[in-house]
Amino acid sequence: MVVLEIIDLHVSIGDKEILKGVNLKTNPGEVHAIMGPNGSGKSTLAYTLLAHPKYQVTKGDILLDGESILGLTADQRAKKGLFLAFQYPTEVSGVGFSHFLRTAYNSLSKAMDGDDREVFITVREFQKYLKENIAKVGLREEFLSRYLNEGFSGGEKKRAEVLQMAVLKPKISILDEPDSGLDIDAVQSVAQAISKVSTKDATVIIITHYARILNFLDKLDYVHVFAEGKVLQTGDASLAQKLEAEGYEWALEKTA
Ligand code: ADP
Ligand code: MG
Repeated sequence: MVVLEIIDLHVSIGDKEILKGVNLKTNPGEVHAIMGPNGSGKSTLAYTLLAHPKYQVTKGDILLDGESILGLTADQRAKKGLFLAFQYPTEVSGVGFSHFLRTAYNSLSKAMDGDDREVFITVREFQKYLKENIAKVGLREEFLSRYLNEGFSGGEKKRAEVLQMAVLKPKISILDEPDSGLDIDAVQSVAQAISKVSTKDATVIIITHYARILNFLDKLDYVHVFAEGKVLQTGDASLAQKLEAEGYEWALEKTA
């Protein structure tokens, strides 16, 4: 059960300020969508939450349960329950997908206490656990014996990210455009997979450009309009439909 608070967050890449005062708060069990135009800083926010070294926080704070995580590295943040599904997952040749998942799972198991994660002793037990989860995301078992993302199609890479989420059971998942590059059927099945693997006390933050994926979620509590490096407006699920119908200009004008 983790509360995330992003307070007046300013982030630069080199001398260029990308995030210009982001404010956002999430509670356990909530599903949030962050919608915004391309180039507005959505991925910058996602990477910054997971401590990507390219992004410098120049002002503001990121709190988990009231404590700043700015001094923590990516792996320390993961151990606190943060997870990022990449917009463009990287192919890692030579690293087996199931080996990768087991290594990640085990390193988090030592850290995340007080939750419902099992400790798997044997490879066989873990394989059984993977097989239960891979079915939920609609990938075939053969993917587990391939190298991480190598030769996966766009949709398969996105499902592989959701499988990581299912397996690692993060407290707060940030999914950066899980719908980008997918056809309509794949968007629906990825959305369903996200809903299926979301646990009831966890928080899910979906970053997207289009309302389409949001329509297929079981639940959506808040929609944030993100533009020009900050959250301009927050509403309920109906805000997504309004953005889809009327574009972002309307939201930008209203706050300008
Ligand atoms: P979004 O995910 O909303 O499309 P990004 O966070 O990827 O937006 O990018 C926000 C802005 O930061 C864009 O103007 C982009 O060109 C710029 N940007 C991203 N990465 C870099 C970089 N490595 N160097 C300079 N500018 C960058
Ligand atoms: Mg992006």
